[in-house]
Amino acid sequence: MDNHPHIDIYFYGKNATEVTGSCILIETSSRKILLECGLYQSTNPVSDFMINSEPLPFNPAEIDYVFCNHTHVDHIGRLPVLYKNRCSAPLIMPKGSAYVLSSLLYDCSKITRFDAKKISRKNHKKLQPYYNDENVDRTMRRLEEYDFNVLHRLDDCVSFMFVPAGHILNSAQLVLFIQDGDLKKKILYTSDLGNTFVKKYYVQPFEKVDSADIVIGESTYGDTYENATEELRNKEIRQLENVIRETCLEKKGTVLIPVFANSRAQELMTVLFHIFSNDPQFRIPVILDTSLGEQICMDYLDTLKKDDLHMFRTVCAWNNMVYFEPYISRTVLDGPAVVLASSGMLNFGPANNWCKSVIRDPLSTILFCGYSPEGSLAEKVKDPAVKELVIEGKKYKKNCKIIDLHSFSSHMQRDALLDYYASIDAKTIFLVHGDSSAKSSLSEELRARLSSSGKDTTVIPFVEKCHHLC
Ligand SMILES: [Zn+2]
Repeated sequence: MDNHPHIDIYFYGKNATEVTGSCILIETSSRKILLECGLYQSTNPVSDFMINSEPLPFNPAEIDYVFCNHTHVDHIGRLPVLYKNRCSAPLIMPKGSAYVLSSLLYDCSKITRFDAKKISRKNHKKLQPYYNDENVDRTMRRLEEYDFNVLHRLDDCVSFMFVPAGHILNSAQLVLFIQDGDLKKKILYTSDLGNTFVKKYYVQPFEKVDSADIVIGESTYGDTYENATEELRNKEIRQLENVIRETCLEKKGTVLIPVFANSRAQELMTVLFHIFSNDPQFRIPVILDTSLGEQICMDYLDTLKKDDLHMFRTVCAWNNMVYFEPYISRTVLDGPAVVLASSGMLNFGPANNWCKSVIRDPLSTILFCGYSPEGSLAEKVKDPAVKELVIEGKKYKKNCKIIDLHSFSSHMQRDALLDYYASIDAKTIFLVHGDSSAKSSLSEELRARLSSSGKDTTVIPFVEKCHHLC
């Protein structure tokens, strides 16, 4: 370690150039601080496995503190690799993270075991899972949860505060105060920010941070010009209701809604409850077909407080809700239904099975309420030019109705990102967690806004691996 006072940032994660795999290291002469350690996730499980199996580019045993801002797998999914490799640093997360974190990490451990076997068999190799349940146990033992909006002092050199990010349940921005000799820096790491235009269930509203020397900010929607507003949400709620009434009540078909098990499933359950629970004529089952999603529902019940807890308990107890064992085929289903199944990309899990039966049925609907990455099955299903799909070598004609909703995004929209970053009194803004087009577009407009308001903030859209701050 360099003994002269200094503060350097190393952008080790794939989130430096893409929207997945968060991992940033801040180094001073006496401290090493890791900001998140997420899995790389694309639509290719083989290359994901190989990337996530690569050795970490730093020594985990030297880390003093690990911070994670929220429980999405691309931000937390690689933590057990740290603790497998002799890391003994406290894992610092916002209060209310523990239950969801635990469910997700044990699920990832199961998936890496499964992937290692499957890929080894296919390629005649002997690949090992990148971690196991014991590594997750050790990770969970290091977890320390901290309150929002309180300045916490860890030692003479490091203090921090979590500020609500408005992204998912208990998601935070991290404000980090670092001192090394006479050098002092206030660093804001936004992690993922939420959509400020639409009120979300079970999510503390986003709060602004006014100033920081350094901002490391997400840019996912940097080139998405159409904002998902409250007006669009209201319109899409009516559309959701109409599609379900038409498909299930008139045509007696199935509405398949592919969802991610964490956050989106619980949000959709609540949205459907609010639309249909007051209608005694609506006797259509709403099936939750995701074992991880069901586990996370229980984590929500163990985590939420007061009004939110009361609301989610009522939603879970709604008579129409049916909780399915994994991989039950549609043949056991007698009559119309609304099905919330994972994964949201349709590539894996029960949603993939449901898709095979629903897609050929002209009386049924697949309704998307999230982004579908390039190369995913969901992207092909959404594409009106694709009339026939090949799933696991078998051809499927696309006969069902396809609906694509846009207002359920859990990321901050372009206009709000610009307003927020332009409002912060900052010396440097690094853009991460966005592809090159999103960063180019956002940085251009942001520079124009900053200079018109007389600020000399530097915007760095394409980060180098290491930045020497001082
Ligand atoms: Zn996230």
